[in-house]
Amino acid sequence: MNVNQSVPPVPPFGQPQPIYPGYHQSSYGGQSGSTAPAIPYGAYNGPVPGYQQTPPQGMSRAPPSSGAPPASTAQAPCGQAAYGQFGQGDVQNGPSSTVQMQRLPGSQPFGSPLAPVGNQPPVLQPYGPPPTSAQVATQLSGMQISGAVAPAPPSSGLGFGPPTSLASASGSFPNSGLYGSYPQGQAPPLSQAQGHPGIQTPQRSAPSQASSFTPPASGGPRLPSMTGPLLPGQSFGGPSVSQPNHVSSPPQALPPGTQMTGPLGPLPPMHSPQQPGYQPQQNGSFGPARGPQSNYGGPYPAAPTFGSQPGPPQPLPPKRLDPDAIPSPIQVIEDDRNNRGTEPFVTGVRGQVPPLVTTNFLVKDQGNASPRYIRCTSYNIPCTSDMAKQAQVPLAAVIKPLARLPPEEASPYVVDHGESGPLRCNRCKAYMCPFMQFIEGGRRFQCCFCSCINDVPPQYFQHLDHTGKRVDAYDRPELSLGSYEFLATVDYCKNNKFPSPPAFIFMIDVSYNAIRTGLVRLLCEELKSLLDFLPREGGAEESAIRVGFVTYNKVLHFYNVKSSLAQPQMMVVSDVADMFVPLLDGFLVNVNESRAVITSLLDQIPEMFADTRETETVFVPVIQAGMEALKAAECAGKLFLFHTSLPIAEAPGKLKNRDDRKLINTDKEKVENDQERFLSDLRRDVQKVVGFDAVMRVRTSTGIRAVDFFGAFYMSNTTDVELAGLDGDKTVTVEFKHDDRLNEESGALLQCALLYTSCAGQRRLRIHNLALNCCTQLADLYRNCETDTLINYMAKFAYRGVLNSPVKAVRDTLITQCAQILACYRKNCASPSSAGQLILPECMKLLPVYLNCVLKSDVLQPGAEVTTDDRAYVRQLVTSMDVTETNVFFYPRLLPLTKSPVESTTEPPAVRASEERLSNGDIYLLENGLNLFLWVGASVQQGVVQSLFSVSSFSQITSGLSVLPVLDNPLSKKVRGLIDSLRAQRSRYMKLTVVKQEDKMEMLFKHFLVEDKSLSGGASYVDFLCHMHKEIRQLLS
Ligand SMILES: [Zn+2]
Repeated sequence: MNVNQSVPPVPPFGQPQPIYPGYHQSSYGGQSGSTAPAIPYGAYNGPVPGYQQTPPQGMSRAPPSSGAPPASTAQAPCGQAAYGQFGQGDVQNGPSSTVQMQRLPGSQPFGSPLAPVGNQPPVLQPYGPPPTSAQVATQLSGMQISGAVAPAPPSSGLGFGPPTSLASASGSFPNSGLYGSYPQGQAPPLSQAQGHPGIQTPQRSAPSQASSFTPPASGGPRLPSMTGPLLPGQSFGGPSVSQPNHVSSPPQALPPGTQMTGPLGPLPPMHSPQQPGYQPQQNGSFGPARGPQSNYGGPYPAAPTFGSQPGPPQPLPPKRLDPDAIPSPIQVIEDDRNNRGTEPFVTGVRGQVPPLVTTNFLVKDQGNASPRYIRCTSYNIPCTSDMAKQAQVPLAAVIKPLARLPPEEASPYVVDHGESGPLRCNRCKAYMCPFMQFIEGGRRFQCCFCSCINDVPPQYFQHLDHTGKRVDAYDRPELSLGSYEFLATVDYCKNNKFPSPPAFIFMIDVSYNAIRTGLVRLLCEELKSLLDFLPREGGAEESAIRVGFVTYNKVLHFYNVKSSLAQPQMMVVSDVADMFVPLLDGFLVNVNESRAVITSLLDQIPEMFADTRETETVFVPVIQAGMEALKAAECAGKLFLFHTSLPIAEAPGKLKNRDDRKLINTDKEKVENDQERFLSDLRRDVQKVVGFDAVMRVRTSTGIRAVDFFGAFYMSNTTDVELAGLDGDKTVTVEFKHDDRLNEESGALLQCALLYTSCAGQRRLRIHNLALNCCTQLADLYRNCETDTLINYMAKFAYRGVLNSPVKAVRDTLITQCAQILACYRKNCASPSSAGQLILPECMKLLPVYLNCVLKSDVLQPGAEVTTDDRAYVRQLVTSMDVTETNVFFYPRLLPLTKSPVESTTEPPAVRASEERLSNGDIYLLENGLNLFLWVGASVQQGVVQSLFSVSSFSQITSGLSVLPVLDNPLSKKVRGLIDSLRAQRSRYMKLTVVKQEDKMEMLFKHFLVEDKSLSGGASYVDFLCHMHKEIRQLLS
């Protein structure tokens, strides 16, 4: 995605960075006078002559042709009030915000006051702990469920372990003393949680009569509540039994904790015949605080997250548990957008929890890496391993080193230290970063990772100001920013040679199947134009990447496309058992130089094989050939394989047919069906910026170390993650463990260093730094967790676990761990007044619903229709997903289309992924990053049907349609625009499927309504919450 773009909005290097003026003025103004000119980065070439100007890259590139319009273009005017009426039957998820999805305009003056002043660290403590105001958003509140008071059992480790073989990162830095002398030290520790329980909801308590549920604020028995429909069976067995012996009481009727003192009775039945439909506990235990609550009114005034109906209690109980009474993902997402999407996230504060991934926000790098590069499960780490074990909260970072940034944010600056290369700690080899402490007048620096004292090389010397800070700190990215790059010297290159530009090799299956389906013709046609869009470095006129072509069936054909040739030449290699590359000169070429020959080749390939009878293909030898070709050319690169059938030809890597035969000659194998998706993904893959030949290392300050890694990579030792290629969509997840005591004052530091070769063949180091807080109070841990990242980690952990353990064991482990996390919170952080009740920590209140989505995913609870290949595919995908992707993958987004005005230019507010949120008078889009459905309600107005599908009635809509007709009316434009916008937000093309209500294809769609019970036995959200409650109570008893 590089070429066609306009000039990146980021000013070139020497110009004032919009970020910096603000940096100086608002936070560090007092100091800046000592050195920094108004244009702080003007002097990057500072100590090193010959600094190379390297414009930012990798962002803001518009795809040339495949490009769906950006989100903001999904604003087709479509007006009409006519559709407004369709909202009526819908269930709203609380306040539907209209503020969502707003991104600050690029022209937003960064020099203007940044985030609230309170968020700015004082001058002398640039990395101190977040000020109080920063904690407002993470104050604890909670849902309370009654339970018995009991100490939690000692937490145990995870039941099954991945091979945590990676033990010896410690070799690289000594466990010696603290490094507490750098400035952020002075932070007062966060105090423990007080008054956190947010909302007290009515309590459920054991044992009593089933029928005596007392609704809040009215108090009479509520027999009618028992008469609801019987819910379908539940997935959790367990000790929850069917005796109808519990009663729920209104919270305001009892002082806190009163009910808890009773014997721990059996849990309310999950699905007993006597208790159809959860009525009793629903209202009782999860109900929102309706009306005034005298007892708890004080501490929990906000109560924004639960219970969206502020009105007085309904005269009649709902038929089922009111889902609005349990934590709603939609509400949490909305709240975060409203609270945190309006001002930039400034990274100068240590341990600051970023906005949710679903919130649009700008990032200002003031010393810590953007959350687009690194997200942590917690931004406040327990000081001791005992605490960490007790809490069971995994400590992990999801790192996307080459993440693409929005156009408003600058790519990391490239720093050139000339022949001496980047400055590093002599002992632990950490790279110079803002946390290094300069001492002795600037002649030495103490490493913030290992405390080693290092000499400052003469060419790097600079005086310190009265605060001990180098006077050039703000002129140097590596002293003031969380993320930056160093140009690598030859020491960082393979064989001590600077790399050649990378190559792309296109390897095309030309067997009968590939020809017949039309793939070869389609591909060759597309490549002719696509080759103009190979990735290139920021300002480069053309891509440095060279290309080569191979076709194959049972044998391989290499092509010489040297620019001096009149026609391409083919060379056949039939000895697939011992692959070699028959030509060097003329195989990998510059597209512009060889354009005529390449075009000729791409024209000829479909013709040459048009009459092929060859049905068999090889596969492994093709990969070998590609690798050999790269090796022979001494360059890194990327192989594009276009393969259409099982490799059954006699060759290494031969496979046997399993059950694919039935697909032959069905629609599923026709290329037209997936043409759009294929081309869209191909365009993205060819154009995206890639880092080649990469090695990533994560260093940590003393006390913790990286022990486990998740992702698609290779490791030949316990510390270095090796990747042949890494693009802006791929993440590496790193888990940390304690190996010593941490220190509240100094916190903990991570430094991720990625050594890679850029698309232009430049060897670089990209550095990301992140400082975290450390705590001695568990409440501080629970206040600073990031549930989306936790889920990302837990899913990856579990998905790897299924390779070695039975799926059920993996599921049980996840459930146990989640229960331990929540039980520990309840035991150690809940206020005394809520003794005996479960309180979900505010920032983890979605943990149960999201975890349930992981548990019922195709990998952990596959339905009958999920093939082994499907599971393997998903497992592989999730391994490299970032937090944004796992968030929507596990909890899909469901958007009602006719409820908001047609002329509305924002995305409609999402509703919860549950069937009961669907109105049969509306249409919905559902997306999870891989799939995209358009669900049409059976009673949708005829005008809507006509506007969207150009047919006169619901019954005439073709089920399974994958393309909407292009119609010139506001609604059609709006919906198609929205679809384009959703696709543009995801890293893969999502093929559309139109699903009609009550149609047989609806089963497919319902699979993604993840709050409901699933066909494969996955629990509904409500059931799972009950189950978690039981598990937690057991742990506490
Ligand atoms: Zn060091």
